[in-house]
Order: sequence, then C-alpha cells, then structure tokens
Amino acid sequence: MYRLHEAGFQAYLVGGGVRDLLLGREPKDFDVVTDARPAQIKELFRNARLIGRRFVLAHVQFGQEVIEVATFRGQSVGEDNTDRVTVDGMILRDNVYGTMDEDVWRRDFTVNALYYTIADFSVVDYVNGMADLKAGVLRLIGEPEQRYREDPVRMLRAVRFAAKLGFRIDPSCERPLLENGNLLEAVPPARLFEEVLKMFLAGDALKSFELLRHYDLFGRLFPSTEAALAEEVDGFPNLLVANALRNTDTRVAEDKPVTPAFMFAALLWPAVVRRRLALEGRLGAAPALQQAATDCVREAVERVSIPRRFSMPMQEIWGLQDRFVQRNGKRAARLYAHPRFRAAYDFMLLRAEAGEVDEDTARWWTEYQAGDDQVRTTLGDAAVNEVVGDDTPPAQRPRRRRRRGGGGRGRGGHGASAA
Ligand code: ATP
Ligand code: MG
Repeated sequence: MYRLHEAGFQAYLVGGGVRDLLLGREPKDFDVVTDARPAQIKELFRNARLIGRRFVLAHVQFGQEVIEVATFRGQSVGEDNTDRVTVDGMILRDNVYGTMDEDVWRRDFTVNALYYTIADFSVVDYVNGMADLKAGVLRLIGEPEQRYREDPVRMLRAVRFAAKLGFRIDPSCERPLLENGNLLEAVPPARLFEEVLKMFLAGDALKSFELLRHYDLFGRLFPSTEAALAEEVDGFPNLLVANALRNTDTRVAEDKPVTPAFMFAALLWPAVVRRRLALEGRLGAAPALQQAATDCVREAVERVSIPRRFSMPMQEIWGLQDRFVQRNGKRAARLYAHPRFRAAYDFMLLRAEAGEVDEDTARWWTEYQAGDDQVRTTLGDAAVNEVVGDDTPPAQRPRRRRRRGGGGRGRGGHGASAA
C-alpha cells in the first residue's frame, strides 16, 4: 500500500483483511484495491504476477504471503443488463474498471466492504459496515434476493461467515436464503467445490454444517447425504458426520493437517450406506458397496466436482471398511499393510463412535495397530479361532497355523493423516 501510495495511486486494504483485523482476528489473506491498472501494478512490483483473463488482477508475493491487488471494479449490473446477466439474474461478466465508490457496491456484505488506507490511517465506510461489525450482523449490500441471484455463492458465504465470526445473518437476508437454495444448481461445480473446502476445512465445519442444514442448503450440495440424514434422525449418520466435522475442527485448531479425502469420505458415507442397502439384495454385499460408492461419487462430482485425487483415496477408505471385521492373522496383516490402512482405521473408529461398528472390533484394531509385530501376531492368531470376525465359511478356513513373526510388516510413520 505504501509503494502504491508513493507512486501516486490510491491503495486500500479491503474485505476479510480489514474485517478480521477490526475484530481482533488473524486475517486469512489480504486483499488490496487500487486505482492503478494491472500493468501499472506489475511495473511497481517485480514480485507481481498478473492472473485472470476476464478480470485481470495482480498477485504480489511477499515471502510466503500472496497479496491480491485488484483494480477498482465498476458497477456489477450496468445498462446492458441483458448482456451480463442470465435469466435468473446471475452475473456472467464482471470485468469493468471503476472507481472506489463503484467498487463498494459489488461487494457482498457490509462488513466486507470496509476500506482501510494508510494515507491517513482511516477506514472508509460507505455502507454502515462498521455498525454491523460492532453488532455482529451480516447484511448484504443492496436488495438481498437480487444479490443472491447475481451470485448464489453468496448464500454459502453468508453461512460460512456466520459460522466463522459467530455473526447473525440479518433477517432481511435470512428469508431469501431459505427460499432460493435452488439457485445453487446453476453454480459451476468447481466453484462449489472451492466453497465447500472453505466451509469444511477452515476450522468451523460443524457450525457451517448445522447452519447449512438449518437453511436447507446442505441438500443442494449433498442431496443423497441429506436424504440419509433426514431418514435416520437418531441413527448413526448424523452422529458420524457431526463427529467427523468436530474432529476436523479440533485438528485445524491444533494446526494438524486435514485431508479433503477423509472429510468427503465422511460427508458422503451416509449416502453410500443407504444406497448399498438398496442394492444389496440384488447384488450381494461387496458388489453393492462398490456400486453404491460409484453412484454416490458420480452424483457428488456432478454437484461439487470433487477431483480424482480426493475421490480415489475416499473410495479406498470406504472399500477397506468391510475388511475390519475379518480379524484372523493373515487377513488382518494384509489390511494393516495396505497403504490406506491408517485413514481407513481412523474412519472405522469414527463409525464405531457413531455406533455403526461394534466396540470390540474398534478396540481390537486399536490394540493391533498400537502394538509391535509380536502383539499383532498374537492377536491375529487368537482371532483365527474366533467365529466372530471371520466371514470365511469354516470349510475354507486354513487349518495351518501361520509362522510366528510373519504377520504385520513394520511400519514407519503413517502416511495418510486423517481429518
Ligand atoms: P476470507 O478470506 O476470510 O474467507 P473474505 O471476506 O476476505 O473472507 P474473500 O473471498 O477473500 O473473502 O474475498 C475478498 C472480498 O471480496 C470480500 O470481503 C468481498 O468484499 C469481496 N467478495 C468476494 N467474493 C464475493 C462475492 N461472491 N460477491 C461479492 N463480493 C465478493
Ligand atoms: Mg480474504
């Protein structure tokens, strides 16, 4: 901002950076707006990279941080309304330069439209954002329903900020939330995916989930999970999803890594189980799980475009779940040696916690994976003689006892970290 200012340009910190600083929170990232054009920004900063094709802006790198520097944008809905807006009122193009007092109107919430300048260290507030910030209110700038129509992702942002900041959504913006969930269907799935990650991996997942369900928006993103949750209000699905998200939040708070694959595995599992149940009679248990997984992933990809690098491990985690009931030595050892064991084990614990897997199984595996090779061999051998935990018909069971020490392979640190 100083460099822009010294070069004779205006420069303001805007958005979450100002909002979070005023709230005494640590901003996630910083956005700067200026009247300098992208080419001029690039000239001032050797470390600037121009990005975007429709609306060009600069990413300026300072060590690990990237500051987004954008030129003021003009009115989002101009005279040529029809050209830039769909029949639903969704904005398609939004690429006109403007002035600061135009830029403010295309921002979403009043608390996101505060501009801080180092010219005189003041905060410029066109929309009464400061009052809303103090009152803890999320209020869209302008006519709420129209603003949701222009960009339905704002509905998800309302929920995300309410969860993150503990703000309440102003009643005038709350009503159209409940009525316009269908607008999310027109949003490109890749954008929904980004927004879902922000909602569920940023430390306020459980609260976001609860608010999404409260406003009937969760089903717009994950319809089959919503169906499973609604069907079994007291069953394992609600517990499982809530526990998974609570664990994720705890891990984020402790600065531990969280993986989208594990989080999506949990979010979609209730749908998979429900679908499997419907298919089981016709296909048999194992193929039904496979088919259910395929169906649910396909639906989720259509909605929120989960990339393969997440949907593959997710399906592996699911695919290993049945194998936790089989505890005899050789099978247990094979499962333990699987590269996805750790994440699958964590997932199984989650299911046990929700009452979907019996406690014995969870306890047995907890001992097994915590022990050394000797412990595993003993546990594995003991399980050979149990009826429970071995679904192989007795006639096919190997009579031969396994060589000692031939059980689990030694494992270093577990690669997969679970949410
Ligand atoms: P955070 O970075 O903590 O998620 P943020 O408010 O900074 O919150 P960004 O997505 O970084 O959110 O966007 C920066 C600013 O850009 C917002 O504060 C808002 O002023 C504006 N903005 C972002 N997305 C939209 C949108 N969909 N509609 C209108 N304005 C938006
Ligand atoms: Mg931001």
